[in-house]
Amino acid sequence: MTEIIANTKKLFIKTYGCQMNVYDSDRMADALAPHGYEPTGDIMNADLVLLNTCHIREKASEKVFSELGRMQELQNLRRAAGADLMIGVAGCVAQAEGEEIARRAPVVDMVFGPQSYHRLPEMLSEATSRRSLHPSQKRAVVDTDYPEEDKFEHLPAASKEVTIKRGLTAFLTVQEGCDKFCSFCVVPYTRGSEVSRPVNQVLTEARNLVAAGVKEITLLGQNVNAYHGLDATGRTVGLGELAFLLADIAGLERVRYTTSHPRDMDDALIAAHRDLDILMPYLHLPVQSGSDTMLKAMNRRHTAAEYLRTIERIKTARPDMALSGDFIVGFPGETDQDFEATLSIIREVGYASAYSFKYSTRPGTPGANLGGQIAEEVKTERLHRLQDLVNAQTTAFHAACVGKTMPVLIERPGRMPGQVGGRSPYLQAVHLDGSPDLIGAIHQVEIVGTSTNSLVGRLKVAQAA
Ligand code: SAM
Ligand code: SF4
Repeated sequence: MTEIIANTKKLFIKTYGCQMNVYDSDRMADALAPHGYEPTGDIMNADLVLLNTCHIREKASEKVFSELGRMQELQNLRRAAGADLMIGVAGCVAQAEGEEIARRAPVVDMVFGPQSYHRLPEMLSEATSRRSLHPSQKRAVVDTDYPEEDKFEHLPAASKEVTIKRGLTAFLTVQEGCDKFCSFCVVPYTRGSEVSRPVNQVLTEARNLVAAGVKEITLLGQNVNAYHGLDATGRTVGLGELAFLLADIAGLERVRYTTSHPRDMDDALIAAHRDLDILMPYLHLPVQSGSDTMLKAMNRRHTAAEYLRTIERIKTARPDMALSGDFIVGFPGETDQDFEATLSIIREVGYASAYSFKYSTRPGTPGANLGGQIAEEVKTERLHRLQDLVNAQTTAFHAACVGKTMPVLIERPGRMPGQVGGRSPYLQAVHLDGSPDLIGAIHQVEIVGTSTNSLVGRLKVAQAA
């Protein structure tokens, strides 16, 4: 156990990438809080900067190295002002590059992967003692092992104070890593193989969040619906059953989860959508492409027809389910016909929202060795066409909500005075006139209009009987 630091220091965490990194950044802040580090939003005053990096897209490493150039300048400024600055690189770029970062960027004190966050206080203590070494001998602390121990068990639970600052909604990582090995994706290499947290650990963290005022929890995992945690008797529990257990927590009003793989939408999870009001009717279910040739080349392990059948099963269970997806355009070998198949599946499903990307080569993945790489301008043109289609669907989805009344979790003051804002069950932002007293609860709201990326609502006042 490292000694507790008495005086307060400022911690700035810059988070890149997905919600799992947001969750991890919060956990890192929690791990350092007992050691005297308090979060700051002002990097100029920081004593410790952690870059929590993402490796999912091209040039991720170069971007980190150029950011580290800026960190060197910031450190010089801090030192000129009589203070100092320590720098850590965390996340998937740290996992992938490891020693290379330590070698190329001497300004860095610590490099550590996503499985090492609970050891952060020890690393910081070691890095601090290395500070006294001569610059020619000073080396960053590098920790990119996949340790046997369970990092979640060693990470402190979110403190009540920190959680309240985070608001009414919270992320909760239930699963990490991925065994699917899609041929374009680095996740199985940077986050390792699939690990699910035990059921009791998840339930305890959820209860703590609810006790601190959280009403909505989003369960996170690279492949969240592959969740298979053990319960106290050693039995394996899937995500559907976990949703039922979460539904028993008094005060927890909404549960979401992301990101799911179509192959793992099993009957129990679909039944949970049918039976549980707490499970929100919004599902992020990436398909990546509508072409079977591309799906095979991507090693997605399902066809377009199987994906559509899965959607049909989900919609039978929960007819108002809104869907979201991820798409990659310009995967090696993608013909005009393959791309048309993607547009066609988008038309058939009708998405409420979607994320779309130009394929970028990730070194070390099977996709990087494929012939038939697609020209950049072709990718750009396809991406624009796909995004135009999805944007039109999003607009239509918002417009179809006008006239409906839906429960909205009011989370914060609105952009204008006298307004409040929240989220619909379908994850749309909703703004309405109302007093701050509404914040913190779910209210029935009539949707009366739409604006660019949100809905405009009116508080529905309950009629006297
Ligand atoms: N696990 C999820 C799934 O099964 O689809 C997605 C996880 S990944 C972090 C998020 C998205 O990034 C993917 O769905 C994919 O669309 C995109 N992505 C991943 N690797 C990519 C690459 N090499 N080029 C372009 N987009 C990529
Ligand atoms: Fe990457 Fe998702 Fe495929 Fe896993 S399932 S390899 S995280 S895209």
